Amino acid sequence: MIDKTLSHNHHEIRDAVRALCAEFPDAYFREIDAQRAYPEAFVDALTRAGWLAALIPQEYGGSGLGLTEASVVMEEINRCGGNAGACHGQMYNMGTLLRHGSEAQKQKFLPRIASGEWRLQSMGVTEPTTGTDTTKIKTTAVKKDGRYVVNGQKVWISRVQHSDWMILLARTTPLAEVTKKSEGMSIFMVDLKEAQQRGLTVRPIANMVNHETNELFFENLEIPEENLIGQEGQGFRYILDGLNAERTLIAAECIGDGYWFIDRVTHYVRDRQVFGRPIGQNQGVQFPIADAFIEVEAANLMRWKACELFDAHQPMGTQANMAKYLAAKASWEAANACLQFHGGFGFACEYDVERKFRETRLYQVAPISTNLIYSYVAEHVLGLPRSF
Ligand SMILES: Cc1cc2nc3c(=O)[nH]c(=O)nc-3n(C[C@H](O)[C@H](O)[C@H](O)COP(=O)(O)OP(=O)(O)OC[C@H]3O[C@@H](n4cnc5c(N)ncnc54)[C@H](O)[C@@H]3O)c2cc1C
Repeated sequence: MIDKTLSHNHHEIRDAVRALCAEFPDAYFREIDAQRAYPEAFVDALTRAGWLAALIPQEYGGSGLGLTEASVVMEEINRCGGNAGACHGQMYNMGTLLRHGSEAQKQKFLPRIASGEWRLQSMGVTEPTTGTDTTKIKTTAVKKDGRYVVNGQKVWISRVQHSDWMILLARTTPLAEVTKKSEGMSIFMVDLKEAQQRGLTVRPIANMVNHETNELFFENLEIPEENLIGQEGQGFRYILDGLNAERTLIAAECIGDGYWFIDRVTHYVRDRQVFGRPIGQNQGVQFPIADAFIEVEAANLMRWKACELFDAHQPMGTQANMAKYLAAKASWEAANACLQFHGGFGFACEYDVERKFRETRLYQVAPISTNLIYSYVAEHVLGLPRSF
């Protein structure tokens, strides 16, 4: 396995995660993918080993590690051939609760999430008619007799069927009545099992990746007032805080994918003989692989930068966005080279290249599209005029 990074090796974490992943080899993920199933045994093993509670402070039963270490866990899962996307929500969704929840909410949720008794894998933000334009969301939560009554629709909400709780963003004050469009939205903890008996309908979306994701329909779903996180009306700001950790962890997953692709293709082109010599002896084959490796290494530097700033409690929105952009692009280029130089075998499921190719493609679109990162950098970093 390629391991050229000089700093941030975190060998103990890498070795432990690799040992766990060795119990779930390529054939396991291939079979799960073919069946469109959920890697239940793998997620349970990760939870039991405490890795998904990496970011939960020790006082609430977690490991109290930083984003740097958490990112190493996610990277290693993907680098070993797995897909951390099945469970990455469990790692970062709790951050919203940790930063903005009351002490009573933290005591109620965090120890149970850390122990694995409850899964908090889901976050419901995206809506079908508003897409990336989040401040226009139409799902409403109206306060009534000590409860919030929720009506509306969400789309692409992941891991709902494998989660006990979901963080939901809904409008509590109509857009027309707020001075800033980012105000008037709130976040709630939704008990998913209970909600499905009382106004929440979940409709799975068949999609390109084996990624459990759904349409959600809310019809007069009542949420207890105590499930509001933080202050009413400030939910958009709270969600944005959490997205930086999400983007950085997903960057780490893409880095893991990138190294996996480069590893696989390097071995393959060294062995594969065509025209009487290894195909890897041709510069036309070598250069795209070398190019992808350089891109992955460069993306990795931005990932460490984002992690360092986050762990030092410094502003890091720019670095989180740039790390996600660079890593998603690098892993996609590595995926393309890997598929291309496997020739026809790249399309054979037993090589796992086509599965990882589909999995890593997602990250140019979700959780934020590449264009929206350009837009963030152009406007927030370079000071160009707002386009929307
Ligand atoms: C498998 C999967 C899992 C997901 N899981 C979740 C989840 O758990 N929770 C959740 O809330 N959401 C989830 N999402 C939603 C995801 O975050 C959105 O798909 C993503 O943010 C893009 O939103 P959209 O699909 O509505 O695209 P749109 O907003 O319709 O945009 C489509 C494309 O148009 C371009 N575009 C849009 N606006 C602009 C602009 N102003 N300037 C330039 N280009 C622009 C971009 O290239 C963008 O990719 C998931 C999506 C997928 C596919």
